[in-house]
Amino acid sequence: MKVLVISDIHGNLAALETVLKDAQGRGYDEIWCLGDVVGYGPDPNACIERLAALEPQLTVRLAGNHDYAVLGKEINVEDFNPEAQKAVLWTRAQLTDETRAYLDTLPGQAVQRGPFMLVHGSPRDPVWEYVLSPRIARENFEEMPDFRCCLVGHTHVPTMFSYRVDRRDGQTFGRCLQHRLTPGPPDVTLAFDQVRLIVNPGSVGQPRDHDPRASYALLDTETRLWTYVRVEYPIEETQHRMLAAGLPERLINRLSFGW
Ligand SMILES: [Zn+2]
Repeated sequence: MKVLVISDIHGNLAALETVLKDAQGRGYDEIWCLGDVVGYGPDPNACIERLAALEPQLTVRLAGNHDYAVLGKEINVEDFNPEAQKAVLWTRAQLTDETRAYLDTLPGQAVQRGPFMLVHGSPRDPVWEYVLSPRIARENFEEMPDFRCCLVGHTHVPTMFSYRVDRRDGQTFGRCLQHRLTPGPPDVTLAFDQVRLIVNPGSVGQPRDHDPRASYALLDTETRLWTYVRVEYPIEETQHRMLAAGLPERLINRLSFGW
């Protein structure tokens, strides 16, 4: 089975439509969405409606921290930086009863699909924790010994962490490596028989690895081939809509640079 793995759409409809079209050309059977459908971008309702319309192909959809914040779940918006906070409050005011209700159905717990564990944040903290460094990844591998391969979003950086335990002189040593990925990296096989993995497809609507193109991945669950894809989308379209909505300038500008 071929799966389209998307995360962190953040109300960016132009990016979402471009990704869906591009992925359609490559073919997929199911869609897994790792959360943060809204927040930052100018089209929260349209993105939620578009996502809802993808069912039943959309077999996994998770809540992200922005989805929670917009609903006022588990958070005080004051925990967000001022721009993100402004976007959260703006988004909250845009939602319709229907889109709010849909957002409210998104689960904040890990979901298991075959050998794949799926979360927004991290294995031990599915909504909030950022897996940004080998140190944090390692803590997750060691505290949560049961998962083989966990797909995460949240950091907006396409990346991969591997973990293996070596035994020497009767002692065990855990080793965690981050595999840095250049834009448009080659396909990789998720060899989670040998090592355990945490894998991030990057962000559809607000990439943060200095490549402004929308990021997503395709996963072949039989061959375990993971294909990273970057695709150009009309960034200015999203920026114009953000400007018209009065969203913070810094959030508008960052899309041009991918950070
Ligand atoms: Zn996000």
